[in-house]
Amino acid sequence: MIACASTDKLSLRVSVTDRCQLRCLYCMPEEGVEPCAHSDILRYEEIERLVAFLKGHFNLTKVRITGGDPLVRANIETLVSMLSRMQIPDLALTTNAQVLESRAERLKEAGLHRVNISLDSLHSDTFHRLTRGGELQRTIDGIRAAVRHGLTPVKLNMVVMRGVNDSEVKSMLAFALSEGCELRFLELMPAGMDRHEFDRHYVSCTEICSALSPEFTIRPHAPRPGSTSRLHDAESPSHGRGRFGVITPTSHPFCSDCRRLRLTSDGYLVGCLARQKRVQVRPLLAEDAVGREEALALAVQEAMGHKREDHVFEAPASMARIGG
Ligand code: SAM
Ligand code: SF4
Repeated sequence: MIACASTDKLSLRVSVTDRCQLRCLYCMPEEGVEPCAHSDILRYEEIERLVAFLKGHFNLTKVRITGGDPLVRANIETLVSMLSRMQIPDLALTTNAQVLESRAERLKEAGLHRVNISLDSLHSDTFHRLTRGGELQRTIDGIRAAVRHGLTPVKLNMVVMRGVNDSEVKSMLAFALSEGCELRFLELMPAGMDRHEFDRHYVSCTEICSALSPEFTIRPHAPRPGSTSRLHDAESPSHGRGRFGVITPTSHPFCSDCRRLRLTSDGYLVGCLARQKRVQVRPLLAEDAVGREEALALAVQEAMGHKREDHVFEAPASMARIGG
C-alpha cells in the first residue's frame, strides 16, 4: 500500500546529463562544473521506472527532460519514446538548441510534444559571450525547425541580465511574436554564480515589464495556481499581438503552491531548488529493487517536504547540475 499518493498535479524535471557544450554566464563557471562519472548517470530504464511509478501513484501530468543539455546525451530520442508510451499529458524538453535543427524531426517522431529553448540575445557577439561559445544562428535554426516540425508551443527562455542583454527585451519580444513562439523572461536566480555577480546583474519582473512600454501595451493575466510563469498579453502596432510570461523565482517566489520535483542525472530527487537537500533514489530504480514502491513513495514525500516558503538560496549550485 502506497503511503502518500496525492491527487494534486505533479510535474517532474528529469536531468539526463550534467554535461553541456556551452558555459552560460549565469549557469556555470568558464571551466565548467566537474562532471559526474558516466557510471553515476542514470540509465534510461531507471528514469523510466521512476516516471512509471509517479504516473501510477501520483497525478503526474508533466515531464520535462533537461540537463545540462539533453541533446548532448546519446540517443535521447530513445528516452523520449519510452516516456511517450506512458502517455504523459505534457512531455517537453529544454535545450539550448545548438544541435536541434537536425534532431527536431526525430524528436517529434519519438513522441515529444514541445520544446523550451534558451535564447538570451539576438546579437551574435553578445550571444557568443553570454553562452561562452554558442552560435546564435544555430539556435535560431533550431527554433525554426522546432516550429516547422510541430514541437509547439515553442517557448523561448531569456534570462535577463543588467548590462548584458537587458537592452534587448523589446527586440526579443518582437522576435518571439514574429516566429510564433511564446517568450518567457526569466529573472536571474543566485545559482551558479557568486552573490556579487547576482546583485550586479539581477533585473526584476517589474523592470522587465516597464522596459517593454511604450512600444508594447501589456496586460497581466490573473495568476494561475501552481504556475511559475506570470502571463501577460502584449500588443504593438508594429509587432502585432501575443502573450509572454515572466518567471519570477526571485521577486515573487512561487514556493507555496509548487508541485515540481526534480530528478538529478545521478539519481537524486530534489524538491526545492533553493535548498541543498536531496533524496537518493537510484538504488530503488534497479530492476530487482525490493519494496520499490513503498520506498519511492516515502522518498517523494520527503523531497516534497523540503520545499520552503522564503526561497532563500542556501548555497549556489549550478542549474546544470540540478536540471533547470
Ligand atoms: N541547457 C538547456 C538550456 O539551457 O535550455 C537546459 C538546461 S538549463 C540549466 C535550463 C534553464 O535554466 C535555462 O533556461 C537557463 O536559462 C536556466 N538557468 C540556468 N541558470 C540560471 C540562473 N542562474 N538564473 C535563471 N535561470 C537560469
Ligand atoms: Fe548549458 Fe543550459 Fe547551463 Fe547554458 S543554461 S550552460 S546551455 S545547461
